[in-house]
Amino acid sequence: MNAKNLSDRLAQVASYVEQDSVLADIGSDHAYLPCWLVQNGRIQKAVAGEVVKGPFESARRTVEKEGLADRITVRFADGLLAVEPEDGVSVISIAGMGGTLIASILAAAPDRLEGVTRLILQPNLHAKAIRLWGAGNGWLVKEEAILKEDRKLYEVLVLERGEARYSEEELLMGPILMKEKTDAFREKWEGELRELTRVCTALDASTPTEETLEKRRQLEETKQLIERVLQQ
Ligand code: SAM
Repeated sequence: MNAKNLSDRLAQVASYVEQDSVLADIGSDHAYLPCWLVQNGRIQKAVAGEVVKGPFESARRTVEKEGLADRITVRFADGLLAVEPEDGVSVISIAGMGGTLIASILAAAPDRLEGVTRLILQPNLHAKAIRLWGAGNGWLVKEEAILKEDRKLYEVLVLERGEARYSEEELLMGPILMKEKTDAFREKWEGELRELTRVCTALDASTPTEETLEKRRQLEETKQLIERVLQQ
């Protein structure tokens, strides 16, 4: 992957960036996503935010090398603090991190979301944390995708402003994904079921305590929920 050729995962994120948006890509690493979007005429300008020195320098180098320093501002900042009011950011992307970290980044600086109409989020795991944050903070799931790349399954969530109430199934598996039930979706949740069964078997073989019995009960509930959705 480089600024000219995105991975399928980042290409899916890019596909959700509306024409002529102003993007802030948080946790931008090499800044491939904003560079690709500018070079392909999809957006005019962007901010790339990074909180770690090495990736920050990589992002700066890519932007310089591609001759895009007048269009892409690379900022060394924690999460949404990379977004300044005068940037006029309309879309924020956060990709390649855990869902819990993404949700905590969104929760940490709600004032920086002013003027933002779309969030494109690609959690490597725990997408539920993002749906929960959205439902509690006036953002609903507008689009969802699941794809496989290099033997890994990735979810991409698009949130827009609005109110939503989700069932436990929808929070865990995705309100749109669980309706579509693509092959990648089935593969992900059949894998999760196998893993849950493995943990349950290990717990059954151990000496029961109040804590392990409670854990076992919760895992069984989650297993049944997943099985119900896959069978629908
Ligand atoms: N977004 C790129 C992608 O999807 O390919 C890079 C993903 S990389 C695995 C995650 C990046 O997020 C790292 O470069 C890390 O330094 C950065 N990061 C983690 N927490 C962050 C935060 N609070 N603010 C800004 N960047 C952060």
